[in-house]
Amino acid sequence: MSTVLFRNASVLDVVRGELEPDQAVLVEDGRIREVGATSEVRSADPDRVVDVAGRTLMPGLIDGHVHVYFQSFDTEALLGWRPSYLVSKAVRSLSDMLQRGFTTVRDTGGADFALAQAVDEDVIEGPRVIFGGLALTQTGGHGDGRSPNDVSTTQCTRCPTIGLIADGPDEVRKGAREILRTGAHHIKLMLSGGVTSPSDSISSTQYSDEEIAAAVEVADSQGRYVTGHTYLASAITNALRIGLKCIEHGNLIDESTVKVFVEKDAFLVPTLVTYNTMDRLGLQMGLSKASHAKNSEVLESGLSALEMAHRGGVNLVYGSDLIGQQQVYQLEEFTIRAQVQPTADVIRAATTNAARLVGLEGRVGVVAPDAYADLIIVDGDPLDDISVLVDPDRYLSLVMKNGVVYRDRL
Ligand SMILES: [Zn+2]
Repeated sequence: MSTVLFRNASVLDVVRGELEPDQAVLVEDGRIREVGATSEVRSADPDRVVDVAGRTLMPGLIDGHVHVYFQSFDTEALLGWRPSYLVSKAVRSLSDMLQRGFTTVRDTGGADFALAQAVDEDVIEGPRVIFGGLALTQTGGHGDGRSPNDVSTTQCTRCPTIGLIADGPDEVRKGAREILRTGAHHIKLMLSGGVTSPSDSISSTQYSDEEIAAAVEVADSQGRYVTGHTYLASAITNALRIGLKCIEHGNLIDESTVKVFVEKDAFLVPTLVTYNTMDRLGLQMGLSKASHAKNSEVLESGLSALEMAHRGGVNLVYGSDLIGQQQVYQLEEFTIRAQVQPTADVIRAATTNAARLVGLEGRVGVVAPDAYADLIIVDGDPLDDISVLVDPDRYLSLVMKNGVVYRDRL
């Protein structure tokens, strides 16, 4: 049993959106035991006492949309990699994410039980991995990585990628059961075209109502939920009405979509930083010209969609969706969102809202008794200036996950 006592911290209460000065946080056995005034919280024999010296102590961050196995835009090359090379890259990505202050990530296509297990057992260093396994895609849908030139009838079998092709309600049902059998926390459906897929258009709708309903039925029966990749207002409205709990991206929503989100208490995970990054750097990082052109269809509308969703009261969750080398920009989503949302709301997206989406409310995303001891310490007030979260080299002094310190500059 290890005990760490943090003293003289300004604790960020993300629920109230306020900093509480001169606080102590007692961590025992990977959990937060007590939070209160420094003069009042005591521990008989702590293994370590940390003087936080007035810095901000806040919950570890949660990224609600990552792909740790999607390591290159060059799908052809990616499919040729040996699994050991791909996994090595994923391990590096996870370690880097933890060093940026993310203590939980939700992988929305690719990551598997084994990778989450390796993190849980501390075989590798990384954020807790909440994963959905392979995303279900129709033939030629956003998760079908085959180029139009590719006449093979099955997708890559040599390495873990993103999608599992399933057509018709029966195949979707079987695919969903298989994904849940392998421990997935949710099921993801590709519901319209995407930027990186080689054979669809952004405006194409994917999966029929019957297919979507089959996935929802399987998820419901096992106490899990379905999320959907789509930009389109009509596809989102339809999917939420059938029973999806969450939508990824949503760049082309309208006011009526916002109302359905609120009515269903559903979640939206915008991923604006990936479109900005693909626009600026995609071509030099191997994104095809066709994908770069598709990107511009969703780039402009992303920020106004976020603003609309925020004003309408949608449950918003932080997402980055960055591929391979792009992942260095994972924290810039904070900067982008702060253009249209108060900083406290942007921080809630990466803490309490994300925790609720992944079913870990009260366990992650808060500094409170009984929560997992997932904490970060930053120099400065992120409510006042969000850039405090965006530049870890300068501001991030400590990262703790489950009571274990992974970054320590104090
Ligand atoms: Zn994605």
